[in-house]
Amino acid sequence: MEKVTSNMTYDIAIIGAGTSGLALAKSLEETGLNIAIIEKQPEDKLANPDYDGREIAITHLSHSVLNTLDMWHRIDTDAVSLIKNAKVLNGDSDYALHFSHKEAGEDNLGFMTSNHLIRKAAYESVKSGNIIKILSETEVTDIDTNNTHGILTLDNGDIIKAKLVVAADSRFSKTRDMMDVTTSKLPFERTCIVCKMDYEGEEQDTAMECFHYGRTLAVLPLTNKRCSVVITLDTDKAHEVLDMSPEALAQDIEKRIDGHLGKMVLTTKLFSYPLIGVHASKFYAQRYALIGDACVGMHPVTAHGFNLGLRGANTLANEIKNALAHGLDFGSYSVLKSYNQKHRKFTVPLYHGTNALVKLYTNETAPAKLIRHGLLKLGNRLKPAKNIITGLLTETDKAA
Ligand SMILES: Cc1cc2nc3c(=O)[nH]c(=O)nc-3n(C[C@H](O)[C@H](O)[C@H](O)COP(=O)(O)OP(=O)(O)OC[C@H]3O[C@@H](n4cnc5c(N)ncnc54)[C@H](O)[C@@H]3O)c2cc1C
Repeated sequence: MEKVTSNMTYDIAIIGAGTSGLALAKSLEETGLNIAIIEKQPEDKLANPDYDGREIAITHLSHSVLNTLDMWHRIDTDAVSLIKNAKVLNGDSDYALHFSHKEAGEDNLGFMTSNHLIRKAAYESVKSGNIIKILSETEVTDIDTNNTHGILTLDNGDIIKAKLVVAADSRFSKTRDMMDVTTSKLPFERTCIVCKMDYEGEEQDTAMECFHYGRTLAVLPLTNKRCSVVITLDTDKAHEVLDMSPEALAQDIEKRIDGHLGKMVLTTKLFSYPLIGVHASKFYAQRYALIGDACVGMHPVTAHGFNLGLRGANTLANEIKNALAHGLDFGSYSVLKSYNQKHRKFTVPLYHGTNALVKLYTNETAPAKLIRHGLLKLGNRLKPAKNIITGLLTETDKAA
């Protein structure tokens, strides 16, 4: 039987129900705009996303945005840990650059919780408003825009028209390419392997980032003597970790952090993410805006992809609300340009700063090793520079 297709018109069509797309939709709920989110996953996966190994470090700004969007309280407090301190180590030296919540003038540097729990909370919050339409299990296969509308073709044959199309469709955004938005892509040729481990030592609240030679290891404190272990190494060596037995891997991590957490036990499977950095040359086109990983896909070492996604969604929502308040066309070039300018002020330095850090701390020539060590020492001594870094990474006004 031939499938009956339909044409639907909305004010805003958002592609992708990840945290960025859902946050934008929720931020605009109060405007009364007619909004649809198009998502290729089935709705039960949005309601109960699978654990994906990602434990997200959430800044103070993101925490406050998640509160405003009625999302934060939906995450069980038992599943949220507080990072009080952070230390960065280089090579085989035990000298560390320290960051403390006291220096930042806050109770903690940031919050940690699982990506799937944030996604679940974001979905529940959007659903609870009963206003935003979610078109699930369907993919955008084509996009076109004109002076007044964006036109999306879905894989089920439906056509969606909207005054503004927002792409929150991941760092591999297909619509970004269809709209000819030039994007710089940086394949790091590194893979990030993540898992959770239990430990028997004293409960910790310090995040550790160890730039060992050849691989980077982050150990991030979770609740109930659990930690997130994040190993980054050359993609062609990833099998060395992926092929280890659970016992051998736990012992290897114990050794690499000098037994700091006591005996460790692997409690999840290993998840691996090949790393690619992405930055779009502009975050808009005619009747089209990019948010989240679709506009900037970060290397996870500075833990900022999610946080930038939330910031961008918030910035775009404010621009749209401002246009509505002044009776302006919220999908016009001037509104989108203003969003682009404001958001890039944050993404450009963070993206390039993170990539420079990755380059230096994966360079194992003798001069680079010396500079790596020297920078940690300088960081501890130069308080103003350290305050700027703390401010950028925690997104608190007090720390800057
Ligand atoms: C190992 C790891 C650790 C990380 N740790 C941190 C951290 O500590 N702090 C931090 O801030 N960030 C962190 N990040 C980054 C963070 O996870 C991402 O930046 C964030 O999840 C991106 O959200 P998003 O909504 O923009 O995109 P995504 O979560 O990728 O969502 C995109 C959505 O779009 C849908 N979609 C795609 N194409 C289409 C289409 N054509 N039609 C319909 N739907 C479509 C997808 O199904 C998906 O649901 C980490 C990332 C990794 C890999």
